[in-house]
Amino acid sequence: MISVRDLRFGYAGGFALDVPELDVAAGERVAIVGPSGSGKTTLLNLVSGIAVPREGRVTLDGQEVGPLSDRARRALRAASIGFVFQEFALVDYLTAEGNVLYPYRVGAGLRLDRDVRDRARALLADFGLGEKTRRRPAELSQGERQRVAIARALVTRPKVILADEATGNLDPANKAAALDLLFAQAAETGAALLCVTHDHELLPRFDRVIDFADLRMAA
Ligand code: ADP
Ligand code: MG
Repeated sequence: MISVRDLRFGYAGGFALDVPELDVAAGERVAIVGPSGSGKTTLLNLVSGIAVPREGRVTLDGQEVGPLSDRARRALRAASIGFVFQEFALVDYLTAEGNVLYPYRVGAGLRLDRDVRDRARALLADFGLGEKTRRRPAELSQGERQRVAIARALVTRPKVILADEATGNLDPANKAAALDLLFAQAAETGAALLCVTHDHELLPRFDRVIDFADLRMAA
């Protein structure tokens, strides 16, 4: 579902990322660990088409991302990828429910119907936010905001779920619960799950754990 080959990318500041090979199959749950600043977020941005590689290839569900136009990449991202951002990236003026439904505002080709609204509410209820669907991000705790961000990534039933420290701001019980939901959703839809995490106690639950240092040296 996700295939990365000979990927090279750099920022103007000098940081360079070099990933020779990374594959995640449909239904597979892969964790990535590695020190802060090693390029984990950059890799997820490249996999999702938010950033474009300087060299090499990223293929999602058989479609190579690099050659697509900005518009086509946005459409692919909205339709096929659920992304839990490290900083949540919630929209301040939308309610929790509005934020979960956000992909349907921006994703050309995604249709917001009653089933989708029901699914959004069910996800929020599953995350313990059933009573807070009308609240705006400023009226939610850090952990609650993070759960809204996770629900937003799941609502489109994406084929690929990318999570950047998705459980970082949750207490232990909520960490486990959030991972349960991510895994249940991935199992139901056969999604590939790629999670950057610092939560070492969660690692045994993944099919595979990749140390970022090894990934970059694998050439
Ligand atoms: P991680 O997620 O593993 O902590 P990042 O991918 O966020 O690492 O960052 C990797 C490196 O790239 C860091 O040195 C960071 O300072 C640098 N970096 C991240 N984003 C940018 C950017 N937009 N412009 C320039 N440098 C960046
Ligand atoms: Mg990061």
